[in-house]
Amino acid sequence: MTAKLTALTASLPTTVPFVGPQQIERERGRPFAARLGANEMGFGPSPRAMRAMVEAAPLVWQYPDPTNHDLVQALAAHHGIAPAHLVVGEGIDGLLGVLVRMLVTQGDAVVTSQGTYPTFNYHVAGFGGTLHQVPYRNDQPDTQGLAAMAHQTKAKLVYLANPDNPMGCLLPADQISVLLDALPQESLLLLDEAYVEFADGALALTPQDPRLIRLRTFSKAYGLAGLRVGYAIGTAELIAAFDRVRNHFGVNAMAQAAALAALQDQAYLGKILDQVTQARAQLADIARENGLSPLPSATNFLTIDTRRDGAFAQAVMTQLAARDVFIRMPFVAPQNRCLRISCGPTTELELLAQALPDALRAAG
Ligand SMILES: *Cc1c(COP(=O)(O)O)cnc(C)c1O
Repeated sequence: MTAKLTALTASLPTTVPFVGPQQIERERGRPFAARLGANEMGFGPSPRAMRAMVEAAPLVWQYPDPTNHDLVQALAAHHGIAPAHLVVGEGIDGLLGVLVRMLVTQGDAVVTSQGTYPTFNYHVAGFGGTLHQVPYRNDQPDTQGLAAMAHQTKAKLVYLANPDNPMGCLLPADQISVLLDALPQESLLLLDEAYVEFADGALALTPQDPRLIRLRTFSKAYGLAGLRVGYAIGTAELIAAFDRVRNHFGVNAMAQAAALAALQDQAYLGKILDQVTQARAQLADIARENGLSPLPSATNFLTIDTRRDGAFAQAVMTQLAARDVFIRMPFVAPQNRCLRISCGPTTELELLAQALPDALRAAG
């Protein structure tokens, strides 16, 4: 028999939101020497998180705790909120899928910024929502434009990554408050805070506020991207609804243990944040030495303006890959004139510094 896809699934494009560096390496036939393209934490996770995984390993014959109890309790204490305001899931990407499934059905309008983090769009398409995209203004999400579009389309959901990926900028907390006040009654603000640990001056947590839900992750500052752990903070009512559709055994036992240990090692996080600050400054120096302009960043990556066009940035990226340096770039004009380079260990930044002058020359 031939499996019969739903009309919706059959109508979807076959493109995937990301081509992983592993696939690029397979196609190239050799590994990258510097992996600076996926905003991973190249400094690695807390040694306590690694020990927790080893200690959890003999018990992996057991199913994990489907409520993620210990991690939820620890996160609630860490943030000073009630556990009922928190749900743990398979990274922000997994939680985005569950949230979209909960709120968006065929024909529902949702709003996002054009060129921002794409996984949300992918889930919206998968549940039949109608995506309305607002261009950036001055290389930042246009909060007024997002609110206007939400009114115009009666959007169920408005997505905002703050700090933003791929531009790295942080919108100040008062601008988010203004956006919340400007949204129509029927719109929920989905605040993707994947990089919040790197940012000073994030919006205060107000988990009782029914106008927003926030998503956070252990993938970036905590260096656990390969484990797939994230969490959502929202009203108790909305958080409870996740239990109706989420994958209850989605977060594996070693991931739960490691995330808990990483959270409890705030001293390590502090050291990592210092290293990221240093690496970002080093990246900015490398950019300036090559006549490029670093943009302000509140993240563990630096977006660098080539002051040329998308074709040029693409050529630089390709030339860097040919020199074994993996980076990425924004994919929508005019932001695609930029390069996006993740912070990493000094050895990798030195490889970039060596390769960049030649790559720029070869790019023309
Ligand atoms: C990296 C990133 C994510 C992915 O988070 P996971 O928890 O690893 O799924 C989500 N949102 C943004 C804006 C990101 O940059």
